[in-house]
Formats: sequence, C-alpha cells, structure tokens
Amino acid sequence: MFYDAVEVASRDELAALQTEGLRRTVATCLASPFYRRRLGALGVGPEDFNSPLDIRKLPFTTKDDLRAGYPDGFLCQPREDFIRLHVSSGTTGAPTAVFYTANDVAAWANLVARCMHAVGLRRGDVFQNMSGYGLFTGGLGIHYGAERLGCLTVPAGAGNSKRQLKLLRDFKVDGVHIIPSYALHFGQFLRQEGVDPADLGWRFALIGAEPHTERTRRRIEEVLGLKAFNSYGLTEMNGPGVAFECAAQAGMHVWEDAYLAEIVDPQTGAPLPDGETGELVMTTLGRDGMPLLRYRTRDLTRFIPGECACGRTHRRLDRITGRTDDMIIIKGCNIFPMQIEQVLMAMPEVANNYLIELYQENDMDQIRVKVEVRDEVFAAAAPTLAGLHKRMVARLRDEVLVTPAVELVRAGSIPAAEGKAVRVEDHRLLEPA
Ligand code: ADP
Ligand code: ZN
Repeated sequence: MFYDAVEVASRDELAALQTEGLRRTVATCLASPFYRRRLGALGVGPEDFNSPLDIRKLPFTTKDDLRAGYPDGFLCQPREDFIRLHVSSGTTGAPTAVFYTANDVAAWANLVARCMHAVGLRRGDVFQNMSGYGLFTGGLGIHYGAERLGCLTVPAGAGNSKRQLKLLRDFKVDGVHIIPSYALHFGQFLRQEGVDPADLGWRFALIGAEPHTERTRRRIEEVLGLKAFNSYGLTEMNGPGVAFECAAQAGMHVWEDAYLAEIVDPQTGAPLPDGETGELVMTTLGRDGMPLLRYRTRDLTRFIPGECACGRTHRRLDRITGRTDDMIIIKGCNIFPMQIEQVLMAMPEVANNYLIELYQENDMDQIRVKVEVRDEVFAAAAPTLAGLHKRMVARLRDEVLVTPAVELVRAGSIPAAEGKAVRVEDHRLLEPA
C-alpha cells in the first residue's frame, strides 16, 4: 500500500531519524567553505543536536547566501563526485545553482517515485511529463522519479499542445505532470479541438511549480477530466518531490525523513505554532553533495493540524499562498496575487488567464487586472458585460480592499506562458512619475 515503510513511521521514529539526519548533515556541512565559517563562528558541531528542535540553534541560510556562494561555495564533496546540476527558474532575481552527487540523484528519484505512488500511479502506468526539461528541475526531476516507479515515461517537454495531444492518445497515457496555468490553457485547447477529455482515459495530473488556488485545481480537474494533485518543491531542496498530496487531496505530506520543515514568522524569524501561517524553512537531512541548513524558502504556508485519512504520519503543508516577496502594496494595502486569482476563478464567466498590472497615475500606485472571459460572455450584449465588470470590481475590492481597474478581454488574448506564468507586470518604474 505504501511505497516506503517510512511513510507510516511513528512520530517518535521520525524524530529519531531527523535527529540522526541533522547530526549527519551538520557533520557533512563542515566540508563546505560557507558552513565551515558559519558553524565555526558559532562553535557548534554534530554533538550539539539531540532533537529536531535543536535545529533552532542554527542561523538561517538565505537565497542571498546562496547567491554569494555561487557557483560552488556550498559543495561538501570533491568536485569529481558530482554528476548533475540544476539552476532555479529565477522567478525573483538571479538564479541559484544546486549540485547533486549520484547518491543525491538516486535519493531524489526515490522521493519523487514515492509521491507519484501516493497519488495512485503504479508500475506499468504510462506517464507524460509536460513540463520543460533542461535546467528546470520539473523536467528531469519528475522524469527520473517516474522511471524509478516503473512507469513508461514520455518526455514530452513543455508546450506544443497538438503534439501533446497526439502523444496522450498514441501511448494511452495514465498520468501527466503539468504546470497549472498551462493545464488550464490545455483544457481550452481540448475544447477548441472538440476533444472530450473523458475519451483520453487519463486519470492523474501532478500540478505544481507555481501557486494556484483550490478553485483553480477544481477547474483543472473539470476541464481535463481527471484528478489533479498538488506537487511542491524547489530547486534548493532538489526540486519536485518535497511535499505532495496523497489520494486524500487534503494538504501535501512533507517527507520528514528527508527534510526538516519549520514555519517561522517572516519578519522576526521566530518559530510559529502548528497551524499558523508563515514562511517555510527547510533543512535537507540526507543530502551529501550540497546540504542546506534552515533554508528560507520565502514560500508562505502552514502545517495542517491533525492526521491524514491515508495513514501517512508525515505532516501536511497547506497550499502555498504566495511568496514573501510577491506581496504587492497598493495604497497601503497588502495584496497577494492568489487573492485575486481566488476571486476570479470563482466566477464562471472567467476564462483561464489573467494578468495583474501595476502602474502610476497622478503620482499614485494603481492596480489593473486584465481578465479573459469566455467567448459566449464576451459576445454578449453590452449590459451583460457591464454587469459582469461591476460585480468583478466589487468582489475584488471586498477581497483586496482597494478598487482595481478591471479590463475584460477575449479568451486567449493574454499570452500563455509555457513555463511558470507571469501573473504580475510592474510598469511603475518604467513610467515617468
Ligand atoms: P524559482 O524560485 O526561481 O521559481 P524553482 O524553479 O526552484 O525556482 O521554483 C520553486 C518555487 O516554485 C517554490 O519556492 C515556490 O515558490 C513555487 N512552487 C513550486 N511548487 C509549488 C506549488 N505546488 N504551489 C505553489 N508554489 C509552488
Ligand atoms: Zn495523506
């Protein structure tokens, strides 16, 4: 029933595994120039860690630390022991590089296989990876996991919907990995082609790599005619396979034998009690090549209290609501793009894409939301559109507390990204004050 016995280890067993992993990781870290300096200055060593909570003795590692150590200031093994590297997507600035030894690559593939098994995929299933290959971890990371599980794996890569559809049909695909924004786009494509998704016979989509709301997930399930599972990961923690939904679809189990996860107050760094939302901080527990201690992911989430119906004991993370650095401040109000997505995806008239634009007018920061609406709505009489516009402005204002400008546009007119969707365009610095 489970892929790895450790998925149902008792909490005490997990704590013991984490303590052991933490000690080993601290010992390994002493080989990297960055951590040797850090840990040396603190005067701590492996023997100072006797419970997972002792992690709090350590300072955080930040994305800026990684950038400063770029490219190889964090390596803990001889250069010739490394067989792979990946570079993060660079969504929020200069990318960072992560290096893997053969052991790291094998352990990572095993974690991804575990995730895919938890969703319901099995050896012998056909799996199509519809995300970009190359430096992005969603390509090779998912690919090796699928092979490890024993799936016939189709390395389709991103984009080219026509070819994707042909592959899905020709090879009778059971499951796919797809970025949520592209999943919606692909749903629209199927509709245009007159394809009934039920005829495809596929059952599972792993969706991740970018924030999305519960409503977006439900839409994806509807337009693709399958079950969609939230998949969380980041390059600094290998890539995909860090936390994953099981068949219960009630939060993402974070694999606590491989990672030590904490939620902290993003301002003060103080640990938050279970159930409260804050910044996710992660430590690798089994990585040889480039272990990281208390890495600040900048992703906002919380631990879901209580136990999961599936029986797995690893705690669950709630959906990521955004990044600490994608908060928009307009007229003194804090706005996260996901609040806007939540409102829009709840409106049946809305099609699949939207774009938030920030600009200046009369020396004031302003926000405009461009929203694609369904063809039949767009073609409706002017009063229908005006009514929709009015309702949308009101609902957005209720959610974000400022009144946005709203522009309704034809479905398909906002370019769909093949990789991570760009949700916000900031024109404030480009326009004269
Ligand atoms: P970058 O940080 O440059 O985008 P990565 O490709 O490593 O580089 O992406 C990891 C990030 O993607 C995470 O830190 C998170 O912000 C986002 N992400 C990944 N999976 C999910 C998910 N399931 N839900 C929300 N956000 C996600
Ligand atoms: Zn579960």
